[in-house]
Amino acid sequence: MINPTAQPSYLPGFWPWIVAILLIGIVIWAIYELLIAPNRKKRHILESIPYCPSLLLPQLPSERDKTILVASHRLIHFNYRVNLCKLTCTCLRFRRVRRYYPPNDVRRLCRHLRKELQASGLIQEFDELTRGLITSRLRDACYIREPLTNSEMIIGFHPRSSIVRVYTYRKSQVDPPGGPFTGPVDKFTYNHRQEIWVYGDPPPNQDEILTVVETIMTQCRARYPQPGKLPRTNDNLITPIPETEIANEARARRESILAARKSTTPLQ
Ligand SMILES: [Zn+2]
Repeated sequence: MINPTAQPSYLPGFWPWIVAILLIGIVIWAIYELLIAPNRKKRHILESIPYCPSLLLPQLPSERDKTILVASHRLIHFNYRVNLCKLTCTCLRFRRVRRYYPPNDVRRLCRHLRKELQASGLIQEFDELTRGLITSRLRDACYIREPLTNSEMIIGFHPRSSIVRVYTYRKSQVDPPGGPFTGPVDKFTYNHRQEIWVYGDPPPNQDEILTVVETIMTQCRARYPQPGKLPRTNDNLITPIPETEIANEARARRESILAARKSTTPLQ
């Protein structure tokens, strides 16, 4: 007599295989997530630093060399330990990415360091343009600070991306059309490939800004290796580069452009 509710006899033989495959998958995933991916990220950051200029923040006072607990924005009752003097944090993003940047590099600032800089008032130690950059999310590989005729700006970008973020002063109501501009510092996003400003109005001196952006992007892209072709290096070769050769060349070229403009009479 056959029992219709009985399990087919072949199922028990499959379960060990299914469990084994699942376990192997979990192990492979864990190895990739915990070892391979972080190491690959670390190597890419260290190798790209010489090609990506950045900004160094002034050293904060030594009395700030202490651990402060900053609450996680995702996990309830979970805190990260940050040190504002050393610019360190225990969050995953810092441990996997930001800690490889040189001391005082602005790219070390994770969400928690930025949050604590603002909460403690220490952000006031920095100038207005730097404060404008810090209050935005720092997500770019390169940062360059450039003087303008009647203003100043910081641009953030990646040599292989078409998105450029410009941090500069807005025009206030009392400012003349050509500047100097005394409004608040704001972030302006430009799509280099499509040649349009996205997410809002362009900055007041956009023609000059775009000239500088074009110069800097062209030079950085020419020097940045092709994808996957970054030369191998190690931690010892990495040195802080607040004002790299690239930035200096960009500045020199910028000055020559301005000098050429002043010395050139437009054709009638
Ligand atoms: Zn953090």
